[in-house]
Amino acid sequence: MAFEGLADRLQGTFQKIKGKGKVTEQDVKEMTREVRLALLEADVNFKVVKDFVKRVKERAIGQEVMESLTPGQQVIKVVKEELTELMGGDESKIAVANRPPTVIMMVGLQGAGKTTTTGKLANLLRKKYNRTPLLVAADVYRPAAINQLETLGKQLSMPVFSKGTDANPVDIANEAIAHAKEEHNDYVIIDTAGRLHVDEGLMDELKQIKADVNPDEVFLVVDAMTGQDAVNVAESFNEQLDITGVVLTKLDGDTRGGAALSIKAVTDKPIKFAGMGEKLDQLEQFHPERMASRILGMGDMLTLIEKAQANVDEKRAKELEQKMRSASFTFDDFLEQMGQVRNMGPLDELLDMIPGANKMKGMKNVQLDEKQISHVEAIIQSMTKVERNDPSVMNASRKKRIAKGSGTSVSEVNRLLKQFEEMKKMMKQMTNMQKGKKGKGMKF
Ligand code: GDP
Repeated sequence: MAFEGLADRLQGTFQKIKGKGKVTEQDVKEMTREVRLALLEADVNFKVVKDFVKRVKERAIGQEVMESLTPGQQVIKVVKEELTELMGGDESKIAVANRPPTVIMMVGLQGAGKTTTTGKLANLLRKKYNRTPLLVAADVYRPAAINQLETLGKQLSMPVFSKGTDANPVDIANEAIAHAKEEHNDYVIIDTAGRLHVDEGLMDELKQIKADVNPDEVFLVVDAMTGQDAVNVAESFNEQLDITGVVLTKLDGDTRGGAALSIKAVTDKPIKFAGMGEKLDQLEQFHPERMASRILGMGDMLTLIEKAQANVDEKRAKELEQKMRSASFTFDDFLEQMGQVRNMGPLDELLDMIPGANKMKGMKNVQLDEKQISHVEAIIQSMTKVERNDPSVMNASRKKRIAKGSGTSVSEVNRLLKQFEEMKKMMKQMTNMQKGKKGKGMKF
């Protein structure tokens, strides 16, 4: 999961200083030493760490902290602001050409996730901004790459412009743009060739395409899990191509965060998007402040709310809430509600967005086991309609049948039935409590 190691270390460090009513220079020195180690361990570029720690130190022993009423928290605020700045400050927007189509050139090494990201970006542009992108297959050396893009186009029901492996990439790009104008595609996303390493031949070809097509954005796709290698790749591509932004893929598997925290400082180019998984909707706009918040365990409610808005049917959610309150909530409703939450993404990732929730995860009795959830789903799916609507009909033979059908055990079935009853009871109590309060004219 993204930044897990770094987040754990930094949060441990700040736990000590958080509640302090007075922060001495010695405290700041100790804290910054630990921050320095944590960042180095996270594989952040050495020089970037040095500058970062220097800035934090200066501010932390300055007036804004020492004279504040809550210096402990003020120090953490300083670190959050500096982390945000390190990752690019304000989030950067994606270009829109004065005259459509807006042309985006995707570049990067093989395996970084360029083709997948081309599909994800097109999906995001359509879903979030109502755009109609055209995908362009310009990797003429690998038929597999062209096929991959065509498959993505089919999955997304989006047009893919391709001329096989015999055409010249510059011609393909130009023809694709002309085609987009005719078909009224407002974005053209060109998937260029990648190589295993940065090499002259590749750079020359990309430079030619860039010079000829004059794209509005040149996005470099790099794999976050490769840490400082990704930073070096970004440096070379930027020197040669003057990229406009970076897409950091596989952030979902990057526990360290070295690339995310170094790229902006080293290349002076912003990270515009982050890949958070293999699926086509797992590309997020990169928000430095929200990211800093997640790293420091302060959660990221904004992203969580956006995810909920995109994945949960609000009207249906209200209906389900009503049902819960009136105790007519059935196992079918429960299944539906669980499905809505799961659509939002892996639970671990969602929990990271809730302030303070990372501490909960450490508790032994809170288990966030995706497997357990699948068991719950399987158990409910093995119930008959009658059982789902009225669990009181449940007897030993029914339970045995359900356990067998769902590949679980009778004790698991019993546990779920008990939890469901308790949940209903709790909802009833809460509803009654609210009614009581309302009756007395209290506000809450
Ligand atoms: P390309 O050679 O740069 O075009 O790379 P591909 O698009 O073929 O991607 C290489 C692999 O990385 C594929 O298996 C993708 O599913 C995977 N991948 C791409 N982006 C992400 C991401 O954000 N997270 C994860 N976990 N996998 C990704």
